[in-house]
Amino acid sequence: MTPGFDHSYARLGPAFSTPQPPDPVSAPALLLWNQALADTLGWSGDPQSDPQQLAALAGNQPLPETEPIATVYAGHQFGQYNPQLGDGRATLLGEWLTPAGARFDVQLKGAGPTAYSRGGDGRSPIGPVIREYLVSEAMHTLGVPTTRALAAIATGEPVIRNQIEPGAILTRVASSHLRVGTVQYFAMTRGGDEVASLVDYVVDRHFKPPHEGDAKVGEERPAVTLLESVCENFARLAAHWQVLGFVHGVLNTDNALLCGETIDYGPCAFMDHFDPKACFSSIDRQGRYAWSNQPGIMHWNLAVLAECLLPLINDNAETGTQMAQEIVDRYPARFHAHHQRWLAAKLGLDNITESDAALVQSFHDIMAAETLDFTLTFRWLTEMANNSLEHSPLPELFNAPTALMDWADTWQSRRRANTGDPAAIEISMRSVNPTIIPRNHLVQKAIKLSEKNDLDWVKAMATRSQHPFEWQSGDIEWARAPELEERVTRTFCGT
Ligand code: AMP
Ligand code: MG
Repeated sequence: MTPGFDHSYARLGPAFSTPQPPDPVSAPALLLWNQALADTLGWSGDPQSDPQQLAALAGNQPLPETEPIATVYAGHQFGQYNPQLGDGRATLLGEWLTPAGARFDVQLKGAGPTAYSRGGDGRSPIGPVIREYLVSEAMHTLGVPTTRALAAIATGEPVIRNQIEPGAILTRVASSHLRVGTVQYFAMTRGGDEVASLVDYVVDRHFKPPHEGDAKVGEERPAVTLLESVCENFARLAAHWQVLGFVHGVLNTDNALLCGETIDYGPCAFMDHFDPKACFSSIDRQGRYAWSNQPGIMHWNLAVLAECLLPLINDNAETGTQMAQEIVDRYPARFHAHHQRWLAAKLGLDNITESDAALVQSFHDIMAAETLDFTLTFRWLTEMANNSLEHSPLPELFNAPTALMDWADTWQSRRRANTGDPAAIEISMRSVNPTIIPRNHLVQKAIKLSEKNDLDWVKAMATRSQHPFEWQSGDIEWARAPELEERVTRTFCGT
């Protein structure tokens, strides 16, 4: 199939989006380009050599076939309902159809004001663009469902925040940008029939069974399919964040994508030392979105979605409420199952049962009490299990305290009770315990350098992030935990 743009969401009608040509910028310059993603998409344009591509991705000259729009949504922000948000600093160029027939939104983030800017300038400083590029691409290579970054482009124009900063635009690619907040807008703010059209659209785009007759078609209402699918997506996604020590930072309902991809890298960070209360966002003073709260918050976001869908779930209000409640109540068990599966793989166990609860708990207690680096502790176990400690850089990176050594004796004897193939379990450990994550002090360094238009080290970081489960020469710099004075404990979404 020939790749190109389509506009199925725009065809839903004017209630859903507003035409929005991006606003030209004075001096666009390419910062980062993701050729690997371009290849996956079948995107043949290349802004490194083609000025028209650069102009298009800066919002200066539309590509043929694009019909840029800004979409409307609502959302609970830190628990407060905001009846209308929307793409305030993002323009959706359209849906890119790949040669394999997959459909991806392509959006320019920071491309100027829209109908939903609410007084904002619609722009982005370079810092958040670089953070999103590096962290979202690292999440992808770590295997986490996420929006992707195709390009980062400097605008040549200043943006005014706490200080004057250089502006930039990110080309963001997502399975779609439809959120819990999109459903909320039509169910809670507008009311009427549009929510049903939206639900049909989302189910058709994301949750259609691969083969006709594969179950449920015609048996189950789209709203039920949607709620069940999102329940599974959120449970799996939250479990994945937890086992990587990823702290999203702003899990508002407008930042919870129905397709189950991670979105909005504004204030996010990976934790270095293990701290269940880890919370980096400068605006999250209560720690609402701290690491340990993420699974519960995604459950809450799911409950908000359920409430919006009630009238579509069953004609009888009481039956509908009961059905929705049953689905929402399944989330904790689903989360737990995914989380236990990941943890078992990370600890080199073929499964985790209730009898392992004390072992797992004491492991986390030791990491917290000794402020051990989350990523390196799991990797230390991996090298121990693989008898590869001395052949890895870990002895230079990590000192196991006595408490962890003692715990490891118990862990090794528990591992002797594994019944699975030991070689397969050890390979699997190496494929779920990264050596490299985009540590916050490195992201910060990348931002500082790119503000000075120094991109070489930033590109090296992006390149190194592509192989997060192996050791490479020169890894000490990328893998080591920050010294106390290097720790970056606050992130600013910089909107
Ligand atoms: P976020 O915190 O990135 O999830 O954004 C929340 C809302 O504020 C979204 O509707 C954004 O589009 C909007 N917004 C954020 N920054 C800007 C900006 N610089 N100009 C206009 N709207 C913005
Ligand atoms: Mg957002």
